[in-house]
Formats: sequence, structure tokens, C-alpha cells
Amino acid sequence: MNFVSTRNDKEVVTASQGILKGLADNSGLYVPQEIPRLDVSIEELSKMSYQDVAYNVMKLYFTDFTEDELRNCINNAYDDKFDTKEIAPLVSCDKSYFLELFHGATIAFKDMALSILPHLMITSARKNNVENDIVILTATSGDTGKAALAGFANVKGTKIVVFYPDGGVSRIQELQMVTTKGDNTKVVAIDGNFDEAQTGVKKMFADTNLNEKIGKMGYQFSSANSINIGRLIPQVAYYVYSYAKLVDNNEISNGDLINVCVPTGNFGNILAAYYAKNMGIPIAKLICASNENKVLYDFFKTGTYDKNREFKLTNSPSMDILISSNLERLIHMCAGFDAKKNSELMNQLATTGKYEITDDMKAKLDDFYGDFATEEETAKTIRELYDKTGYIIDTHTAVAKCVYDKYTAKTGDTTKTVIASTASPFKFTRSVMTAIDSKYDSWDDFDLVDELSKLGNVEIPNAIKEIRDANILHDNKCSVDGMEEAVTSFLK
Ligand SMILES: *Cc1c(COP(=O)(O)O)cnc(C)c1O
Repeated sequence: MNFVSTRNDKEVVTASQGILKGLADNSGLYVPQEIPRLDVSIEELSKMSYQDVAYNVMKLYFTDFTEDELRNCINNAYDDKFDTKEIAPLVSCDKSYFLELFHGATIAFKDMALSILPHLMITSARKNNVENDIVILTATSGDTGKAALAGFANVKGTKIVVFYPDGGVSRIQELQMVTTKGDNTKVVAIDGNFDEAQTGVKKMFADTNLNEKIGKMGYQFSSANSINIGRLIPQVAYYVYSYAKLVDNNEISNGDLINVCVPTGNFGNILAAYYAKNMGIPIAKLICASNENKVLYDFFKTGTYDKNREFKLTNSPSMDILISSNLERLIHMCAGFDAKKNSELMNQLATTGKYEITDDMKAKLDDFYGDFATEEETAKTIRELYDKTGYIIDTHTAVAKCVYDKYTAKTGDTTKTVIASTASPFKFTRSVMTAIDSKYDSWDDFDLVDELSKLGNVEIPNAIKEIRDANILHDNKCSVDGMEEAVTSFLK
């Protein structure tokens, strides 16, 4: 199995090369040359641990890793950093299943991939005789940043710089990042939004002068953003795992179709579900849930992707995105793996901010269903689910739950559905608690944490306990134009 660029079908790399490089040349993304079929039965998978399921998925993509190498990466990632042996538990509630992807070190689903990425990267560097230190550049809308920092902090041979939009992340998210220890870490607030941060990072990757300059200093860039195949592929595992668990728990019979509903921003998580479907997991609909930055909803409805619109800061900040990078992989796929056609569309996006796909391509997107939830609907969903069941979900998961309820009301579809639960409510305590009752508005952040623990009858996660009294170790701000200087000064 090799990986090919979405913008140039001559640019073919091994998995380990793709993981190291992150982004392909000319801003292309690496995709598997074909989606492999699972080679073990659902029956077998249903008896396996999370780690074994993950191995049986990843081995089909990362074929240049030995079994030992890959199993080592998996065992180092999915260990007691997670607060449950199941790693990704399924919670049955209100006629659907919440796949809780937030039991890792930083209590958001980003941990599912970012706890393994550093291990994949170090192994890849060794396999390719890389002598430079790897510098991870990351733009974050809040969750990737801390998850990447947690993954890479103090990992030998790596440094990591994280950029986040000043004022665009929750207080808890910001505290999580700016209290990060580790000499090899740097955290910078930029005077701009997430898309600007992401564009700035992409520019640095593509800047040959800058790459040469840091090369002379003994460094090379790589990416921990969800464009890296080392993030995308590990995410496929939990969709396979959730299906196998539903079978094992007799919630469905082997072969029954399920739907998945995913709160979506950069389109990495839902794309992983689509890969799982193409590997043989019986998934019917992929329900793509957006917040008020509903560029994907409009796209699935009309076939036109148009980012020319007002950018909104919402109560689900990790989905405040107008350029969903991973959608390019789906476009490339529904264009029949045609790099030329895909490049044309992406060039249009870069120059005019929009593109339109053909009817042929649109027909291939029938498996996807898009809708969105407003901030008020999101809050209402949290409150109503809590009132009805006592289960408390975070704002991102609530966007998905709200869209799922709209979907069933509109279609009458009763297919069992897995909702990706992408963050712990403790990560967005303020929004979650004020959704439940406006009286919490005036409360202090950590008093809210205690109250949430009481109401939901859930223990306060370690990730929150840790930041309560931690010192602020990063106090950096820069303009969008100052991002390069922030990186080079850190490397000097
Ligand atoms: C990143 C994130 C998302 C969006 O996931 P994508 O893969 O970017 O679509 C949703 N919810 C939470 C909590 C996140 O951190």
C-alpha cells in the first residue's frame, strides 16, 4: 500500500514517508492508492480489544511498518493515559449510541489520533534514516493543540509549535495549552481566526526558503494537523470497533446497517467513518453535523463549496471552520482519484474561495447527509437530553445530537445510529452549564466544574484537575504575519 497526492498522481510515497512529510507538494494531501478491505471478520473483531482492532485496521494502510513496530506504537498510545480500558466506550442513550472518544489525556477525540502520531512519526523517522529533528507546526481551533502538545511534549528528536486564535478557544482549552510543560513546546496566540492560523501554517510548509533555512539548523517540518495520514488512519479504527461492539453486545446482528453522525469541522473524523464504510463496515448514512459555520451543509445540498461568508465564533469552537481541509480527500475520491480535476477545484478555492462539483461527482456523495444546529439549538439539546436522561454532553456532541434528531424527524429513518461524542463536557463547562441553566452565567469556571461533576454524577477528569493550579508557562502573541518569526526564534 502506498499513498498518492490528491494534486499529483506521480507523487507516490510509502506510509512512513507520508507520515513524516505531513502535507504533499503543492499543498496536496496524501491518500491511500485504494481503500483496503478488512481481512478479518466482524465476528473476530467483535471479540478483540481496542488495540487489536486498531492493529487490524492500521496494518492494511501502514504496510511498511513491521508488526512489532506497529503494535509498539499502538500499545504506547492506547494505554493508561486513557481512563477506561475500553478506550472508546459506547453509551446507549435516548435511542442512539454515543461513541465516547474523549477518554484520553486531553479529553477530546483528538487524543484518539494524537496519542499515536508521535510514535508513528518517530518510528517513521528511524525507518527513513532521518537525522534532522522534527518540528511539528500546528494550527488549532482548540483541541488539536493540547492533544498534540500532550503527545509530543518531551519526545526526543521533536519540537512542537502550536498556534491558536486569540479569543477563539474556551478558557479551559486555553489554560490546557498555556500550562504545557516540556522544553520542546511553544504555544502562541495569533491575532486572527483558525482559518488564518491554518493558512499561515500551510504557507510555512510550502515555503522552500524557510525549509532550507531550518534544514541548515538541523530541523525539518511536519504536521500534526488532521491532514496527516498518521492522524486520519488511526481514526478509522474506532468506527470499526464501535460496529464490532454493537454486534458483540447484541444491539445489532452482524451485517445490519448502521448510520453514523459526526460533529464536523475539518472533515477528518467523518472521513474516517467513510473509510470504514469502504473497508466493509455496513454503514448506510454518514450524517455530517455542522454548527452555524455551515459551509458543509450548503455543499452537500448544492454541490457548491463556498467559503465566502462571515466567520462565526460559536459555542462549539472546535468546529468553527470555513475551510474543511479533509474534504479535499473526498472530492479527489468522488472525482475518480483524478488529481488534475481535484487540483483545478482546489485552485479555484484558493483564488475565488469557491468551487462547484459536477452532477456526476455529486451523485457519488449520496451517502452523506448534511445539516446544522444553531447555538440556541445546541444549548437546548444539552438541556433537554439532561432533563430527560441525566446524561450530559458537550456542545460539539450536542450539535451532532441535534442534527440527528432533525434527520430522524425529516426522514423517519430508524436505523441504529452511532453519534461521535467528541469532547468531554468538562472541556466546555461554561457553555454546557449555562445551557442547562442560565443562573450559572455568573459562576467561576472551576466552581462550574465542581457543579458539573455533581449534576452529571461524573468524576472530574484528570485533565481538568491538572490545570486548576498550574502555572502559565506560555504567554506569546503574534500577528498572522509574525508566525514565521515565532517559529524561527524558537528554533534558534
Ligand atoms: C476537532 C473537533 C471536531 C471536528 O472534527 P473534524 O475531524 O475536524 O471534523 C469536533 N468536535 C471536537 C470536540 C473537536 O475537537
